[in-house]
Amino acid sequence: MNNLDSPVIIVATKNKGKVREFAHAFARIGKEVKSMYDYPDVPDVVEDGTTFAENAWKKAKTVGDTLGLPVLADDSGLCVDLLDGAPGVYSARYAGEGAADADNNEKLLSELESRKLGEDTEQPLLSPARFVCSLVLYDPATGEKLESYGTVEGFITSETAGCGGFGYDPLFYLPSYEKTMAELSMDQKQAISHRGAALRDLMTKLGG
Ligand code: IMP
Repeated sequence: MNNLDSPVIIVATKNKGKVREFAHAFARIGKEVKSMYDYPDVPDVVEDGTTFAENAWKKAKTVGDTLGLPVLADDSGLCVDLLDGAPGVYSARYAGEGAADADNNEKLLSELESRKLGEDTEQPLLSPARFVCSLVLYDPATGEKLESYGTVEGFITSETAGCGGFGYDPLFYLPSYEKTMAELSMDQKQAISHRGAALRDLMTKLGG
């Protein structure tokens, strides 16, 4: 079975938030994380899958085959109930190709505001939502592929709070903490997040 024996884990991403979180998680088990910033010649992968798992596999396979080295790929995003699961696999480019996190957050709020039911303009929690993460570990030497999955439930809140994390974290409210994801420490986020859950699922499948 595929493994994480190497002291260096290559993650097929240029998302700085993801790189920080993987570096933090793998440092705990003495491993260094490299990202696509360390391999600038690897072309960007077109994410045209209809599911997180499809996109994660495409990234792992393309980058793994290009480098000839084992690769871990993450495809993740936010699914909002009131928006029928959007932005989903389009989370990174919800407000357009190359959109900044702030643009995506603004677009999310305006979409939810326009769908708001009734006159309750003071309602702070706009919709139930979940973050989803699909991971694929792929070894081009053997062709082996290992998949894992994680999710976390919360609500989209009407105002951003916190400056930790990345992406939609400042709008993702967790009732049990009475905080947004962006107000948690990185350790707290990893203990409950979709990415943390997917990493634990991966480790379990690897037998560790
Ligand atoms: P991907 O790089 O195509 O997987 O897109 C991931 C996008 O989903 C990010 O750019 C964020 O907008 C969103 N996302 C994924 N994980 C998180 C997270 O942990 N916090 C906040 N937003 C996230």
